[in-house]
Amino acid sequence: MEVKYTDRGKKGKTCAGCKHFQDEGDGLGKCFGHEVLAKGGCYMFEPK
Ligand code: SF4
Repeated sequence: MEVKYTDRGKKGKTCAGCKHFQDEGDGLGKCFGHEVLAKGGCYMFEPK
């Protein structure tokens, strides 16, 4: 599956605002078991 994760998500569509993001602090979190950046993003973004 190609979701094109980027470490710089589009404004208003970053991992921090995504319902799949589990915040772990310090700008990091988990998404489906993978370490991602709070400011990252991908095509699977879904708002909280
Ligand atoms: S689905 Fe995409 S936008 Fe949402 S937390 Fe995961 S990597 Fe970030």
